[in-house]
This record gives sequence, structure tokens and C-alpha cells, in this order.
Amino acid sequence: MFVVTIDAEKCTGCGECVDNCPVSILELVDGKAEVVGDDCMGCESCVEVCSTGAVTVQEF
Ligand code: SF4
Ligand code: SF4
Repeated sequence: MFVVTIDAEKCTGCGECVDNCPVSILELVDGKAEVVGDDCMGCESCVEVCSTGAVTVQEF
């Protein structure tokens, strides 16, 4: 499985990761990206589009 972590300190709330997740498990909550589901398929689109390096994806 894949676990997505958002560093709230680095997140600017731009929403790019939210718009680019193919399984729609990222949402903006109070101006920060949050993971709202557990279906991550590890594509790393969210990592690629995040200009601040706030997103990490780890495989377990
Ligand atoms: S792309 Fe990065 S900065 Fe933008 S909302 Fe997602 S985690 Fe935050
Ligand atoms: S790695 Fe892909 S599926 Fe997982 S949260 Fe990021 S964009 Fe969505």
C-alpha cells in the first residue's frame, strides 16, 4: 500500500495535487491539502505537481 503525507508547513494550498490525483483522495481543508482516502495507487502525480515539495508518497 501507499501512504501519502502532506507537510502542512510547506503546503501553500494551491490545489494542484487535488486537481491531479486520479483517484481523488486529496482535498483542500482550511487551505491545506489533506488525504481523505486510502486508495492511493502510487502514481506520484501529486509529488510532481507540488512546487513546494510538501507531498511524499511511501510504499509499505
Ligand atoms: S500541490 Fe503542494 S502546495 Fe499545492 S495544495 Fe498540494 S501539497 Fe499543497
Ligand atoms: S500518488 Fe497518485 S494516487 Fe496517490 S495521492 Fe498522489 S496523485 Fe493521488
